[in-house]
Amino acid sequence: MSLASVKKAESTLLLPTYDRLPIMVTHGKGVYLYDSEGNKYLDFLSGIGVNALGYSHPAITKVIQKQAAKLIHTSNLFFHAYQSELARRLVKLSGMDKVFFSNSGTEAWEGAMKLARAYSNEKSGGKKFKILALENSFHGRTFGSLATTFTEKYRKPFAPMLPGVEFVRFNDLDDLKAKFDDLVCAIGFEPVQGEGGINPVSKEFMKTARELATKHDALLILDEIQSGMGRTGKMFAYQHYGVKPDVVTLAKPLAGGLPLGAILCSNKVSAIIHPGMHGTTFGGGPLACAAAVEFLNVIEKQKLLKHTQQLGGYFLEQLRKLDARHACIADVRGVGLMIGVELDSAEVAKAVVKEMLARKIIINRTHETTLRFLPPFIVTKKQVDEVVKALDQVLTACASAAEPKSIGRGAH
Ligand code: PLP
Repeated sequence: MSLASVKKAESTLLLPTYDRLPIMVTHGKGVYLYDSEGNKYLDFLSGIGVNALGYSHPAITKVIQKQAAKLIHTSNLFFHAYQSELARRLVKLSGMDKVFFSNSGTEAWEGAMKLARAYSNEKSGGKKFKILALENSFHGRTFGSLATTFTEKYRKPFAPMLPGVEFVRFNDLDDLKAKFDDLVCAIGFEPVQGEGGINPVSKEFMKTARELATKHDALLILDEIQSGMGRTGKMFAYQHYGVKPDVVTLAKPLAGGLPLGAILCSNKVSAIIHPGMHGTTFGGGPLACAAAVEFLNVIEKQKLLKHTQQLGGYFLEQLRKLDARHACIADVRGVGLMIGVELDSAEVAKAVVKEMLARKIIINRTHETTLRFLPPFIVTKKQVDEVVKALDQVLTACASAAEPKSIGRGAH
């Protein structure tokens, strides 16, 4: 099947939710993705942070093949060997106590919101119902997640949203303190905002959120769906801050490319849960969990946290050198291999992504003006150099071709 015929078929058969790039991917190997026309792309987006071990990692492929031949699905009516094994590993790595497995990120976040309400209903008879989220947050597309997602374009077509959510200005301590009252049952946010433009929460904000949550017996819920599982050079981004959340959500790279999400929580929270309160058909199936255990094995064996720290630091350093030379760069920021380069114009950012793709390098643009880099953890220095060099050339060409126009970053 050709790209043209697939495109035509999709246009008549699928809901038009995606604005796809004109590329039909066929396979991947390491950091490279290949298309139906024989092109090879250096992928610095890795399936929006999912393919953290790159494509076709031999250890993941082997475990999936072996497990698929034995048992793919069984439902949560039965035990199988891998949920508890994976939970044991996640609990040890996170310092949390209990785990629930879902299928996706939004479903994990949705479940975390339910935990917050259930905790409050149990502890305060439902008096506390408010959930605080942050401006420029992104937590997913289902109703609860959407209600805590800030961006208007995602929410508007589906209004009215679920009630009880209030947004706090990003890293604004005064706003946080003003909005954190006794009606709040939870504050939930990404330690490093992904979709919102790669914005790390400040140490002070994180610390204050923890203190206020404790003071008001509300839950601190951290969305590590994009920032977790090693992306920032630590297993979880909150480990850079020295705080302990009450609930953590995971997904994206967790199962080496298979759909799997997780909610981690403390014993204090899990104590209010009883059988039948929450569940899923697919979540935590043997195939996805076996792959996730192997994902953790590979991270450990290949010492990928250290590699991510080193390569992330190097990448950031090189990008900051570009910042010094290109007037169109407004900011360079990130942690580990979660990096954003904010440009001063949405048009230039769009053109840069397109031109990088023409050079067979995949990155994307988020929050209008930010170039987002989420390369696989196995990326090499040489590949980083190749991307920086291409970006340097592309920025030079794009900046002179486009008329820079200042576009604000929103309310902060
Ligand atoms: N939370 C964050 C921080 C995300 O980046 C995403 C997806 O990009 C989600 C939640 C939603 O995850 P999913 O697309 O798996 O539902």
